[in-house]
Amino acid sequence: MAVKEFKAESKKLLNLMVNSIYTNKEIFLRELISNASDAIDKSYYRSLVDENVNFNKDDFFIRITPDKDKRTFTITDTGIGMTEEELENNLGTIAESGSLAFKNKDDIKDKDKVDLIGQFGVGFYSAFMVSDKVAVKSRSVNSDKAYKWESKGAEGYTVEPCEKETVGTEIILKIKENTKDENYDQFLDQYKIKSLVKKYSDFIKYPIKMMVKKSRPKKDNDKEKEEYFEDETLNSMVPIWRKNKNELKPEDYNQFYIDKHFGYDKPLWVIHSSVEGVVSYTTLLFIPSKTPFDFYTKEFQKGLELYSNGVLIMEKCSDLLPDYFSFVQGLVDSADLSLNISRELLQHDRQLKFIARRIRDKIKSELLQMLKKDREKYVEFYKNFGRQLKYGVYADFGANKEILQDLLMFYSSKEKKLVTLDEYVSRMKEDQKYIYYAIGDDVEKIEKLPQTELVKDKNFEILYFTDDVDEFAIKMLVKYKDKEFKSVSSKDLGFDSDDKESKKETEENKELFDFMKNVLKGKVKEVKASNRLKTHPVCLSNEGEISIEMEKIFNKMPNNQNIKADKILEINTGHPMFKAIKKAFAEDKDRLKVYSNLLYDQALLIEGLPVEDPVQFANDVCSLIK
Ligand code: ADP
Ligand code: MG
Repeated sequence: MAVKEFKAESKKLLNLMVNSIYTNKEIFLRELISNASDAIDKSYYRSLVDENVNFNKDDFFIRITPDKDKRTFTITDTGIGMTEEELENNLGTIAESGSLAFKNKDDIKDKDKVDLIGQFGVGFYSAFMVSDKVAVKSRSVNSDKAYKWESKGAEGYTVEPCEKETVGTEIILKIKENTKDENYDQFLDQYKIKSLVKKYSDFIKYPIKMMVKKSRPKKDNDKEKEEYFEDETLNSMVPIWRKNKNELKPEDYNQFYIDKHFGYDKPLWVIHSSVEGVVSYTTLLFIPSKTPFDFYTKEFQKGLELYSNGVLIMEKCSDLLPDYFSFVQGLVDSADLSLNISRELLQHDRQLKFIARRIRDKIKSELLQMLKKDREKYVEFYKNFGRQLKYGVYADFGANKEILQDLLMFYSSKEKKLVTLDEYVSRMKEDQKYIYYAIGDDVEKIEKLPQTELVKDKNFEILYFTDDVDEFAIKMLVKYKDKEFKSVSSKDLGFDSDDKESKKETEENKELFDFMKNVLKGKVKEVKASNRLKTHPVCLSNEGEISIEMEKIFNKMPNNQNIKADKILEINTGHPMFKAIKKAFAEDKDRLKVYSNLLYDQALLIEGLPVEDPVQFANDVCSLIK
């Protein structure tokens, strides 16, 4: 039995097209402009293989003419045009792409270099999203006759001879009347048209022109205004990222950055690179010089603009950037993306994933470059976005810590400025086991922390953690270059000789400390002689995974689960107050109770934790004023 070919059910398909493929009606303009650009490209490619066809660049342009009164939107091009047959085939059959066929023609050399936009044969029909009737007048380079294709949509189309002086195509859309939900008038408005061309088609190679209505003071009477028309080219044609880097000045990038609304001022750092390979692409990326006001909120949307051959496909492609580099602005342009039919999405994300990985690596290496070559700039960057990097270390169970660890910086007790982990480790003393850190609200407060005394005394460097996320990130990191991190508040600081001594002291005063521990039941796990205190009387240290700082952060969270750190009250047995304590233990146990509570409350205050019972605290202090 003979197999019959399916015929595309044009009516249904057209409806589908008009109503479901595209999410945005405005992209009809992108599609028609892309077709016009393809048509001009074809003339150019013809000229390469046919001596009889000349290509004089100045003769090629696209023109848009809106007419509010007639409700028509006309777009003309001086491209290759269509014969009667081509009108039938290309516009009469949905999903027939003359452009794809053109590329595959035998006499077209270097097929890879032919980068026409069209391939699916559906874009043209997007015109019906905004119009009741579409007329296409066209004259092919290969013919001296012109034909007009006309259709009101689903009913079908007609083709008949018409008048047209020049080679090329003229498409006239009869724009729909406004409805309750849809404003079609906007597509006849010159400002809207200008902005749509900018948005989607700014980098089409050929000029897109429009007579723009303007007004100026009258010559003889400057109080009155007169309207006049001026021909404007709406697109900038050559995308800055396709230009040669050597030809571009910093000002060019800055201007582009502002034009694109990537930021309000100059970018801090520009990354402009082209990659040739399995997937070829160009990127132009910017690191902003200021934190966007909504950066650390849910409203902030990360993403890069994605272009396919200079035509905008996606405004914010979030898959191109990892969260920890979400501050990066810019774009990617690639001719190698396989787009889906609406050209709003990609068919495979394989290429995208590939590009995203390469972009991630590039951003990292650029940041390391900045750190090396222009530290001041890097510090500025880090002040704006360092927190995002630290979140990145912590997020996804530390999956990205290797990538990010060399980008981290913390304030150093010795250098009095931000230093990297690498710098810290390279300066570590031979007898130093750990990378020490101390936590507090700000540098000044940390400077005064009793817990830092011993480590400073040993002349070891301490990193100051002032961001909530710092300790969480570091806990995820565990080690850097085989060196473990250690909080100056942790029970064991790794100083064996000092440990021995404080152990001995704790032993000697066992009964006293046990008594105190009993008074502070449920509040501290242990009371002991301190090895880390030099001048301060008391401090808290902690045991286990949850630090006192983490307890504070957990308790600030809305779903406070009352997570507590295991606290140890450390007593400076060399401090004069210890004599009073011993005396009270021997003579007046009630007095020692008051002392115990007061010392604990003091230690809490030093930690920046609230005193549990302020009234009791006040009474205790009063009881001493005798
Ligand atoms: P695609 O652009 O994906 O091929 P379209 O539906 O946009 O699909 O267009 C279908 C075909 O109609 C094109 O491939 C091209 O051959 C032809 N065509 C559309 N617009 C023009 C034009 N302005 N000039 C010449 N040919 C055109
Ligand atoms: Mg098209």
